[in-house]
Amino acid sequence: MAATPLMVAENVRKRFGQLQVLDGITMSVNEGEVACIIGPSGSGKSTFLRCINHLEQINGGRLSVDGELVGYVERGGRLHEIPPREASRQRRNVGMVFQRFNLFGHRTALENVMLAPVKVKKVSKDAARARGAELLERVGLADKLDAYPAQLSGGQQQRVAIARALAMDPKLMLFDEPTSALDPELVGEVLEVMKQLARDGMTMIVVTHEMGFAREVGDSLVFMDKGRIVEAGKPRDVLGNPQEERTKAFLSRVL
Ligand code: ADP
Ligand code: MG
Repeated sequence: MAATPLMVAENVRKRFGQLQVLDGITMSVNEGEVACIIGPSGSGKSTFLRCINHLEQINGGRLSVDGELVGYVERGGRLHEIPPREASRQRRNVGMVFQRFNLFGHRTALENVMLAPVKVKKVSKDAARARGAELLERVGLADKLDAYPAQLSGGQQQRVAIARALAMDPKLMLFDEPTSALDPELVGEVLEVMKQLARDGMTMIVVTHEMGFAREVGDSLVFMDKGRIVEAGKPRDVLGNPQEERTKAFLSRVL
């Protein structure tokens, strides 16, 4: 079966004032594949995910999800803006999970998962409740539907956040260091849910420093530094046999 690219970035550029945060990012992720991104703090990893999810606008290049252009497009040397309504429609195709879980503290796990489908997609409450329960079961929280975030561990909260993102039926899931804020003993349960999601065929872009996860689950691995892709390839090659000095130096620090 021919691979279909779901996310394509071509020479994507993003600056904040004078700071060039993304300096020509070119990569693509095929449907059903998992791309992992590693790199030092400040290299632009979060900004890249935020651009894919319309939380930031790119300043140059081309970015597309499922064949639709995202953010600004460059045509004839000029930038054209995509209307906000279009952007918010497109954003529904993309689920995002952050380092901090950002759950609503005054709502139960189930209510957190139901909220966006009801508000944004106008799904009936009954349907959203049924689906929410099913998703929470899928992330191993069938017995926590009525728990409030404060009653859950960090790992459980992050699994609620994953279920909440899945409730919008995204075509693409973005994970921004989803386990970095967790106590070490809670990391495994979140990675396990992500692995299962990958096995179920979800297309995922995962910023992580969990090299074991990248090696086991990643179809590709990108090393970013200073807004550029320094090296990319199969995870076992990039991790086991890095070609660039900067990659070697980074890996020697984190492995
Ligand atoms: P990473 O996720 O790899 O640590 P980020 O994408 O968060 O990197 O940040 C890349 C650079 O962009 C950093 O220098 C950061 O300070 C800067 N940056 C990120 N967001 C903003 C913003 N909204 N305004 C100005 N600078 C920003
Ligand atoms: Mg970041």
